[in-house]
Amino acid sequence: MKILPPVFLELRGDAGAPLAVLGLPYDGTCSYRPGSRFGPRAIRDASWGLETYSPELDGDLQGSMVADLGDLDLPFGNTERALGEIGAAAREVAALGKRLLCLGGEHLVTLPLAEACREVHEGLVLLHFDAHSDLREDYLGERLSHASVIRRCVDRLGPDRVCQFGVRSGTRHEFDWMREHGTLYPATGEGVRRALARFDGPVYLSVDLDVFDPSVVPGTGTPEPGGIDYRRFVECMAELLTSGRAIAGADVVELSPPYDPSGISAVLGAKVARDLLIVMGARG
Ligand code: MN
Ligand code: MN
Repeated sequence: MKILPPVFLELRGDAGAPLAVLGLPYDGTCSYRPGSRFGPRAIRDASWGLETYSPELDGDLQGSMVADLGDLDLPFGNTERALGEIGAAAREVAALGKRLLCLGGEHLVTLPLAEACREVHEGLVLLHFDAHSDLREDYLGERLSHASVIRRCVDRLGPDRVCQFGVRSGTRHEFDWMREHGTLYPATGEGVRRALARFDGPVYLSVDLDVFDPSVVPGTGTPEPGGIDYRRFVECMAELLTSGRAIAGADVVELSPPYDPSGISAVLGAKVARDLLIVMGARG
């Protein structure tokens, strides 16, 4: 009798694996519709229906050395403590020489992940895929919010080390800021190529699933019409893969299973997570 744990895509990497998947079931600051705390489990479940091979990226996770570490046990009701624990986990994994793909959870989890990554990878550049700019100085007075996560990343990395793709929603002030600092690019292969041409450093890749059109990903907390489809996304990933740029870490966030009755959003989230592992260099 063979009983498998609920791991992503049957990954069999052990403690020595150079790449690891970690779930972050946290949605403590969600402004509109919570539920992304159930995201990691839904992505793992959906991944079992996926092939390990991506024809678009010509990469296969079959037999690859990636370990699924499971979900981090996180406290609710105290944002700073939860972020502190995520950062501590990321540093612990980085100290072992591993790189992380994290499954959210809400987008605020990117802040401690990118911070921890930057300590190890000098000159880190954040590539941010999202319908929203997430550049608010604060949201309803709260500086630590999923609506202000990229602003907090800018505070740490600087505006010239952040590139945003697919943003179509924000305040006039946020759009003025993006124009002034030149952070906004189209979510296309050409857009990724242009962004990468400006930097040499390693990349942290953050994918808020609401960058996809709500017809493609209905299961998210703040859906925004006018988004991309999977083909456009994989075009961006193919460009990133071709560039050969080092990927220091990545996350897939904001899948909210309560708004995904058909399960299609979870399937797409799992496919995005598979593709990110391939772009990060996982190979069978
Ligand atoms: Mn976001
Ligand atoms: Mn968003």
